[in-house]
Amino acid sequence: MSISEKQQELLRRLPGVDHLIHLAENDPRLQPLPKSVLVRAIRETLAELRRQILEQPATADDRWDDSFDMIARIVQKASVVQAYNLKRTVNATGVVVHTNLGRSCLAREAIDHLVQIASCYSNLEFDLKAGRRGSRYSAVEDLLCELSGAEAAMAVNNNAAAVLLCLDTMARGKEVIISRGELVEIGGSFRIPDVMARSGAILKEVGTTNRTHLRDYQQAISNDTGLLLKVHTSNYSIVGFTAAVTLEQMVTLGRQFNLPVMEDLGSGNLIDLTRYGLTAEPTVQASVAAGIDVVTFSGDKLLGGPQAGLIVGKTAFLDRIKTNPLTRALRIDKMTLAALEATLRLYRDERQAVSRIPTLRMLFARRPELEGRANRLAEGLRALPGDRLAVEPIDLSSRAGGGALPLLDLPSCGLAVRVQGLSASRIESHLRANTPPIIGRIENDRFILDPRTLRDDELQLIVDAFEHLLTHSTTTQTNSHGDH
Ligand SMILES: *Cc1c(COP(=O)(O)O)cnc(C)c1O
Repeated sequence: MSISEKQQELLRRLPGVDHLIHLAENDPRLQPLPKSVLVRAIRETLAELRRQILEQPATADDRWDDSFDMIARIVQKASVVQAYNLKRTVNATGVVVHTNLGRSCLAREAIDHLVQIASCYSNLEFDLKAGRRGSRYSAVEDLLCELSGAEAAMAVNNNAAAVLLCLDTMARGKEVIISRGELVEIGGSFRIPDVMARSGAILKEVGTTNRTHLRDYQQAISNDTGLLLKVHTSNYSIVGFTAAVTLEQMVTLGRQFNLPVMEDLGSGNLIDLTRYGLTAEPTVQASVAAGIDVVTFSGDKLLGGPQAGLIVGKTAFLDRIKTNPLTRALRIDKMTLAALEATLRLYRDERQAVSRIPTLRMLFARRPELEGRANRLAEGLRALPGDRLAVEPIDLSSRAGGGALPLLDLPSCGLAVRVQGLSASRIESHLRANTPPIIGRIENDRFILDPRTLRDDELQLIVDAFEHLLTHSTTTQTNSHGDH
């Protein structure tokens, strides 16, 4: 692409960084900024202008020539540079355990305890009774045992770490027998075969994708076998002509050959979901009761706590896992531990857990509650001035997300919002650029808001964002860029 004379002229007239720093020194809005922020804001402003001149010369006006406009652009850019990169986001997708949006929101109790432990010293690794060094794992061990029925327990950084650590401890250099139907890949490149390779264990797959029998495991057992592994197919389901070996059968087989049996449960679930109208999801207690030696699961999926990997099981194995040198590299942080302990304590009383843990509350929300929230949001949106906005109540399906309950449809009722002159994707990108960003979804070319994952105090934020959108966007008729 050749550059026109007009473009060359515009590029030549762009001021230099030093000149702009000098201008900024006399501007009360830019003066107080850290130098690094100012320089970055200036560089990015200039780069943006250069790009505009080269790519869209027709729209590249030269009002920046006026230093007032230039400074205004830098002020704007500086506020972007200074904003947090990791920011609070409004989840209007209806996907409850949304991995991209941070999975679970913590219960108030967990937040309060986390804040206190983070801001003060604590007995993280200090045994207050004995007055000497203690173990950080004792903060949640008794609770995990109490809730799951296991003999011993510990927590690490996340479930991927828990699986890695357990395989490394129990099956390094040995074969691990697993069904072909359970070679799971979780989003974000966690694949059972890859984790196994990293741990130094050797994958020995048996059976077929849809059917694995006890005799398949049996025939694969040799002197090289170190472990029998079951992985919960948490994010997909094999339906139709299927056969899988039960936990009890696996345990019996393990005992017979003196082999440990491990289960990666994925989403850690401690309550019977069918009581709340959901499909059954295996519980940690059931795996422990079946006699599985070591069970691992996540802290921030269905459990609704912080990111963590929980390991529960027999003392003999947990003792070995705790002393594995890898444990130190995968250890859980004190803030996480504080949030985890507070979350687990809520499970002592199931009614508490269900009413206090946001993930559970959202999963179990019933139609009247969702409808009420959708109606309040609709009212707020309809009260906005002008007549470009059209709000339509619709039935939809929310999702559990986080690789849990893949087949579960959570009936919900939400809103489809149309703005005259704007496509659904323009609405989506505008709300995504909001402060705080609002993430919805697009279905059949409509922008959809699902109230299941919204808090009541977030409704006004959405109304405000639409108000901003209406005042700052023009319709297709007057928009020279078009709208697709
Ligand atoms: C989610 C999941 C993992 C990974 O857990 P993280 O806590 O995200 O590390 C491992 N295995 C299964 C079966 C899972 O569903």
